[in-house]
Amino acid sequence: ERIPGAEELLDKDGKYVWHNMMSYNAGSRPMLVTGGEGSWIVDGDGNKYLDAMSGLWCVNVGYGRKELADAAYGQLLKLAYYPLTQSHEPAIKLAEKLNEWLEGEYVVFFSNSGSEANEAAFKIARQYQQQIGRGSRYKFISRYRAYHGNSMGALSATGQAQRKYRYEPLAAGFVHVAPPDSYRRPKGVSEERFNLQCAQAIEDAIIWEGVESVAGVIMEPTITGGGVIVPHPVYMERVQEICRKHGVLLIIDEVICGFGRSGRKFGHQNFGAKPDIVTMAKGLTSGYLPLSATAVRRDIYEKFKDAEDDYAHFRHVNTFGGNPAACALALRNLEILEREGLVARARVLGERLLAGMEKLRDHPMVGDVRGFGFLLGVELVTDRATKAPAPVDAVKRIISQCKAKGLIIGRNGDTVAGFNNVLTFSPPLSSTDEDLAFILSTFSEVMAMQP
Ligand code: PMP
Repeated sequence: ERIPGAEELLDKDGKYVWHNMMSYNAGSRPMLVTGGEGSWIVDGDGNKYLDAMSGLWCVNVGYGRKELADAAYGQLLKLAYYPLTQSHEPAIKLAEKLNEWLEGEYVVFFSNSGSEANEAAFKIARQYQQQIGRGSRYKFISRYRAYHGNSMGALSATGQAQRKYRYEPLAAGFVHVAPPDSYRRPKGVSEERFNLQCAQAIEDAIIWEGVESVAGVIMEPTITGGGVIVPHPVYMERVQEICRKHGVLLIIDEVICGFGRSGRKFGHQNFGAKPDIVTMAKGLTSGYLPLSATAVRRDIYEKFKDAEDDYAHFRHVNTFGGNPAACALALRNLEILEREGLVARARVLGERLLAGMEKLRDHPMVGDVRGFGFLLGVELVTDRATKAPAPVDAVKRIISQCKAKGLIIGRNGDTVAGFNNVLTFSPPLSSTDEDLAFILSTFSEVMAMQP
């Protein structure tokens, strides 16, 4: 039943609120979200939906966690704000905890969003290369189809032209190579060989650009927003070797893959990688408050810390980054993930979810099913032999049919070629067995309805 005032609110929304361009909800009017509990959200009509996108890959521990609100509230009463020009307990404890989760020696710089975390990473990488006497290495290699953020540097690293071309010129020095999209690899080439070739493209780019000009490589462990592109394990291993060989820093963007989403604490742990810099946001607070982090290998940090020249310190200030309430909340969020074993749960149940999706492989529109943890993609096609991508209208129809049955899923894989044909399933890690069964049964029903 419609909550009082919902209609008026939506009228005002249409008048005053400028929404994010990309909405995974079909239909022109946004949903008025009034509350959430567990994996479910409620709209202005009192309808409930299972949010299999966790907001925007944020709500890893689910909605309605009172203890997260309490953690923030308690900290707001104690110390609401002080910048990290000085220090405070929540930031110290969180940085220590992140270090433990990263299973390595890292020092943490806090910001508020994934984009900012990546910007900080770029600046740190460039300055570090100078500081160790490698000259002005300034370029970054990233992949087509990847998304790394909305700010000029992070957008420059992004490999999706349609997000960029109206805002050019962007930052110089960002070079793109093809991602290891194994589903669309050439016929007759093994997945392993194809992935090695894609890794080689990174080394080629480094060499052709001039080794002395390249500061870093940035990549997600698995391209998420670009269509859930899961690399073969040889890819990450080879990329890491290439980076080491050429003195290029490996920056891993864990904004989506981190905090259990990929069935490990961090996505790169699926591949045994040891990144130089790790960026994170979203699931760090399960989206309850804005907070992001750039974790930097300790020995890189030491080059800044021990610099005698004052100007050799990192010349970067973030007013709100690492604010006490967000840090206190993030700490509690990590405690919940640990206490409820949600990372292992995502790994085990993610496999079950994937196995369930695999049953749809015979459907004429299902080209590919892939992913790990609670990060799954179903690539839709019109012809499984040619792999011609399903038209956007068909993809949107499926999404709105799911929504009509109470299931919210995502649409990704945006390219100028008009793909956008990968459905994504990323429910909260706390989703119950019933929630997962609902996702599978609802999606199967909707696929069975397709003409
Ligand atoms: N990196 C990745 C992989 C992302 O998916 C996003 C956001 N979708 C960002 C960075 C940017 O994060 P934010 O929107 O918090 O700036």
